[in-house]
Amino acid sequence: MITLKEALTLSKDELNKFKVELKAKIEKQPELNAYIDVNNVGDGVPIAIKDNIQVNGWSVTSGSNILQGYVAPYNATVIEKMKNAGLSPFGRTNMDEFAMGSTTESSFYGKTQNPHNSEYVPGGSSGGSAAAIAAGLAIAALGSDTGGSIRQPAAFCGIVGMKPTYGRVSRFGLGAYASSLDQIGPMTQNVEDAAILYDIISGHDEKDSTSAEMNDKVSDKLDATRKMTIAVLPKHIQNASEDMKKAYQVAIDALKAAGHTIVERELMDAKFDISAYYITATAEAATNLARYDGIRYGNRVTGSNLQDTFIKTRSNGFGDEVKRRILLGNFVLSSGFYEAYYVKAQKTRHMIKDQYNKIFEDVDLILSPIAPGIAPKFGELENPMDMYLSDLYSISVNLAGLPALSLPISKSDEGMPLGLQLIAKAYDEQTLFDGSLSLEKQINYNS
Ligand code: GLN
Repeated sequence: MITLKEALTLSKDELNKFKVELKAKIEKQPELNAYIDVNNVGDGVPIAIKDNIQVNGWSVTSGSNILQGYVAPYNATVIEKMKNAGLSPFGRTNMDEFAMGSTTESSFYGKTQNPHNSEYVPGGSSGGSAAAIAAGLAIAALGSDTGGSIRQPAAFCGIVGMKPTYGRVSRFGLGAYASSLDQIGPMTQNVEDAAILYDIISGHDEKDSTSAEMNDKVSDKLDATRKMTIAVLPKHIQNASEDMKKAYQVAIDALKAAGHTIVERELMDAKFDISAYYITATAEAATNLARYDGIRYGNRVTGSNLQDTFIKTRSNGFGDEVKRRILLGNFVLSSGFYEAYYVKAQKTRHMIKDQYNKIFEDVDLILSPIAPGIAPKFGELENPMDMYLSDLYSISVNLAGLPALSLPISKSDEGMPLGLQLIAKAYDEQTLFDGSLSLEKQINYNS
């Protein structure tokens, strides 16, 4: 597949021809189920779009039954920015319902396969976007990352996925899951393309009150020769699989060989991340999803009175995982438990942020797994608790609002990709991309 950088040099005619071929290729592999629809707007470079980002005139459903029939009446800010830069939304990709999940199995549209082996999940929630790129069916894609949903599927599928600093990319037009954690970001074939797409979609937006007033760009200043101090986490890595530990060592050796200085640091026990995240995310989700009641939004199932309509609409429209999280979120926000759960989670969130700030006082980047091992097989994370626990490496980054990039390092004995992430301090995307480019060059995964 051509890269985004290359595609940006093609003429309109060349792009139109390319898109006809791409559509035919996608339709030849329906069992992969990376795309829900292959629709195109405009004559720019085709970019696949996760099904929770508004594209004017498209059916946009967040992978849910409750949004069947909804047609987006406007473009998300990222889509407007893409169009201004010569990119076109091309196809909407499969995802876990309302971005809640780690495998894309909870989608209303059925599961997406991992292109490396159809017995394995592609990761989630942006599993469709990752699978499309890994299968050579997309040049690049947009995903959203609330607790790892860009970086983890990227790692499971052997591609690059980047979560920007909270506030760098406008959330206007993103279907909200947990508003204080959600960020849209690029999913690409390589680090340079991620920087290019990040530059296109980032920047201040007056339509998003949490958008940072910063517009600096990174891709024209990429520098893989900068020598950095990079922290590794010897204790944290103990919870990972043997494959992942090996990949971690491969990356450390590569970073040393590229001239970086490696230092050891520690993060607090990931059990605190899991608790703080699942309380915060479900509380915000319960609030955000209240609008799907069949009156304001959502596929209405008419009942005998208003309350019955709410109950029937929501019972019929939401899947099990979404219902579970709405229940949990309303529980932690209820008056008797708010102090004990929600307030405590916010205090823990501060501690998590502080620990990162401390590390970044004398370190440029942190190297961490993004998931405990390779992609699980279908059904392996059926127990919700096991699924939540598998997020131990990804969610603290969202709780602290930091930028992070996941890139492929090596393959397991089964031939499945093993990815790792680099984490930078808030708003230091330049260092994140420079360090990632250096690691990518040294590892040479695609050769
Ligand atoms: N797996 C996490 C969750 O289910 C993260 C999802 C995401 O980033 N959207 O909440």
